[in-house]
Amino acid sequence: MPKLRTWFSGVLETQTALHVGTGTVTSTVTDAPILRGADGLPLIPGSSVKGALRSASERLLRALGHRACLVFGDQPPADDTLRCLTTDKAGRDLFFKLKGSDPLDEAELNEANRHFNPPPSWGQDWWRDFGQHEAWQKHLLEDRNALCRACLTWGSPFMAGRARVPDLRLRGDGAWAQATEIRDGVGLDRDTGTAADRIKFDLEALPAGARFDFDLIAEPEADRAVVALAVGELLHGNVPLGGRTTGGLGQVALTGFAIHEVDLADPAALVAYLTHGQRTSFAGQEAENRLETILATLLEDAHAA
Ligand SMILES: [Zn+2]
Repeated sequence: MPKLRTWFSGVLETQTALHVGTGTVTSTVTDAPILRGADGLPLIPGSSVKGALRSASERLLRALGHRACLVFGDQPPADDTLRCLTTDKAGRDLFFKLKGSDPLDEAELNEANRHFNPPPSWGQDWWRDFGQHEAWQKHLLEDRNALCRACLTWGSPFMAGRARVPDLRLRGDGAWAQATEIRDGVGLDRDTGTAADRIKFDLEALPAGARFDFDLIAEPEADRAVVALAVGELLHGNVPLGGRTTGGLGQVALTGFAIHEVDLADPAALVAYLTHGQRTSFAGQEAENRLETILATLLEDAHAA
């Protein structure tokens, strides 16, 4: 059984101005400076790209009828089956009580049995030992479907994600460091959300044409179909990044798309990767075909459901 680590790679190019801010004002030139690395060059934090990719995959999972909670969404799903343990506060509190070996009263125990439906082989007093058994915790979270497909892949308070995006570095020379523009904006009243014409506000943005190296790395335990949904959206320009996306900022395109794989369960492949960085690579049409193969597992899921 292969254990594939997969890289989805390419060059992310801004199609419109892009504002990825620092969240704190450190500039005397603008109200909202963009984020820069230690070298002074504009930087896109991988965490912000990962968040946008996660949201994109959640939208599509729900459209396909799969469970995907709304960690980053702004409205709770009408359908309860779209929630998962991450967005279920009572269940979450109960799980962490169990994990911490806190004593449960009778009502809590009934609730835990109903909520998690532990296998009979664990015995009546399973909850007393739960904190000591990592395999049990994993079983409830993964095999018993406590977490949705998005949480299992991108991460949740219960477990680290199996896919990550390193910070995106700007390509090319330092000329881009000075190429940013200051754009006038309309300040929003924090309380009402309406335009407040008395608030003067501007922000720094990178113009269209800036290019960043992009890598999304999925570990073998990641649900590659979930990752591939997000990558497909990115390929088609449907994942805006940064701030003011509703105002048209943050449109990006992925070019030079490639997929690289290493089978971590194959000792020869692993040694070749660790010593020479050797990977099985798919570029151009081959990369698109590979993406299609990964996404095709969604069709099998649909038949099984
Ligand atoms: Zn979830």
